[in-house]
Amino acid sequence: MKYVIIGSSAAGISAAQNIRQLDNDGQITILAKDDEIYSRCMLHHFISGERSRDQLRFIDDEFMKEHNINWEPGTKIIEVHESNKSIITEKGLEIPYDKLLIATGSSPVIPSIPGLRTGKQIYTLRNLKDAQKIKEASRKKTKVLVIGAGLVGVDTAIGLVSQNIDVTLVELGETILPLQLDKTAAKIYEDLFIKQGINIKTNSKVSEIILDNDENVKAAIINNEEKIDVDLVVVATGVQPNTSLVKETDIKVNDGIVVDECQQTSIKDIYAAGDVCQSYEVFNKEKMLTPIWPAAVKQGEIAAYNMVGIECELVNNFAIKNSMRFFGVSTISYGLTEAPDDNYQIETQNNANTYQKIIHQNGIIKGAILMGDISNAGVIGRLIRDEIDISGYLNNIFDLTYADFFSQTKEGKFNYNLS
Ligand SMILES: Cc1cc2nc3c(=O)[nH]c(=O)nc-3n(C[C@H](O)[C@H](O)[C@H](O)COP(=O)(O)OP(=O)(O)OC[C@H]3O[C@@H](n4cnc5c(N)ncnc54)[C@H](O)[C@@H]3O)c2cc1C
Repeated sequence: MKYVIIGSSAAGISAAQNIRQLDNDGQITILAKDDEIYSRCMLHHFISGERSRDQLRFIDDEFMKEHNINWEPGTKIIEVHESNKSIITEKGLEIPYDKLLIATGSSPVIPSIPGLRTGKQIYTLRNLKDAQKIKEASRKKTKVLVIGAGLVGVDTAIGLVSQNIDVTLVELGETILPLQLDKTAAKIYEDLFIKQGINIKTNSKVSEIILDNDENVKAAIINNEEKIDVDLVVVATGVQPNTSLVKETDIKVNDGIVVDECQQTSIKDIYAAGDVCQSYEVFNKEKMLTPIWPAAVKQGEIAAYNMVGIECELVNNFAIKNSMRFFGVSTISYGLTEAPDDNYQIETQNNANTYQKIIHQNGIIKGAILMGDISNAGVIGRLIRDEIDISGYLNNIFDLTYADFFSQTKEGKFNYNLS
């Protein structure tokens, strides 16, 4: 059996590893545009100097050899020919497959703001090369504008400020991390970031990047009125799935490549996993993009089982969750961060070092934020995933442990009710 995987990141590597465990004899080839294998989640540690290039790797040097995988880095795939079961590289080489996995991830979106697409010192943070360029450029440039205060923008700002660079973080929303946190939690981080030297401008739109005659970045105009001097811009305004290689095929694409519960696309023997695909998410109860690392790993694993012929469905794909740790303060958030209307109830607990909040609807948790103390995040996650009614536990909802769900029957047997 010839297994071909396009992409060597979270989803692709997870799939290859699982295929090899299940099929000792199959021929596995991984092709990827990237030259190296590394975790994107740690790129900001490379910018800040906390990790070297080698410390970004998430597999051993011997991984490909040990798993008997043919690894072709620096190979871009431009077309998929489903009728004769082959893919085409940028150099025109045709590679046949029996089972194909598309794990091409996503790429940053650059909004159409005057100057932003033409300026010389404009960067995004997606690849190791981007991180290297930002690190190199920020040695010479000292005033950096980061557009977008989602996780990637915040990571970038923190990586740079720790190098004593003057960083301004601009966010369209009312607070930073608007998709991950509520206003209270966001404000706690904002105050912390300001103390560490990051300039924050929320409710703000970058209207223009001013360039000199040689297209060098000189300044930015915020909200059409304020001019700030900048000499380097990092754009962190979201990502879009890399689906161009399937545009001439019958593979169904909505926001991303649409897959079924087995990670199979609308075409037999072609699978997709990770940021590039749109799969069923249990919290929102719909097929959606789930661009987080653990979801990509899980989807790669499910694809592998089905590619070797063992039917296996993606269950509990619970991807509306975020974990972060900035300047020593850890936070985990799940699902909703603000109650949409009066049909939701809110429980909160605040003290000097922690902020915790649960949003529920008649006892069924719809969202949670645990900031400062994340010790019972596992329990809360499980309560959400299994839709356990917490009505009887509201008094001690922030102190629950798994032990609270054990009970003893009349016969002396233990029951575990958290399932
Ligand atoms: C800066 C940053 C920080 C992040 N932090 C977190 C975090 O803290 N927690 C979290 O859960 N997630 C985080 N993420 C998101 C996480 O990195 C992604 O969800 C994850 O990398 C998706 O994995 P993937 O395998 O689907 O695709 P990607 O990691 O995007 O990899 C895509 C692969 O496909 C290859 N490829 C693409 N196009 C082609 C082509 N045409 N031909 C051949 N090869 C191709 C690429 O070379 C690459 O190997 C972060 C992302 C970034 C950028």
